[in-house]
Amino acid sequence: MQYVYIPESVFCDVNMQSKKFIKTKENFICEQCGLSVVGDGYTNHCPQCLWSKHVDVHPGDRKATCNGMMRPVQVEYKSDTYVIVHRCVLCKHTKRNKSSPMDNFEAIIQLSATPYKKV
Ligand SMILES: [Zn+2]
Ligand SMILES: [Zn+2]
Repeated sequence: MQYVYIPESVFCDVNMQSKKFIKTKENFICEQCGLSVVGDGYTNHCPQCLWSKHVDVHPGDRKATCNGMMRPVQVEYKSDTYVIVHRCVLCKHTKRNKSSPMDNFEAIIQLSATPYKKV
């Protein structure tokens, strides 16, 4: 499989005000495909189209103020797990997210077959 290294780029617009970390089970509507996603507290991307949203600086903290949509650009297969690489369409921040068993496997396979393109 083609592998392109994407450096962990600088975080954008970090909200420096400290807030207590609260784990939230949030449902959300995917802004890319319109699917209603039922959150389980770990959900950070749409299981149907795999798009994510730039809300975290560190996983779960919801401290990013960017709120850009994050496009799935690459899939890496590592130790029996598919890892989806998301790139923010606004600030180009890239982030790796483990795929979940709920994810659309077809979409993951399609993505892994698509050569990486800079967007
Ligand atoms: Zn979606
Ligand atoms: Zn961003």
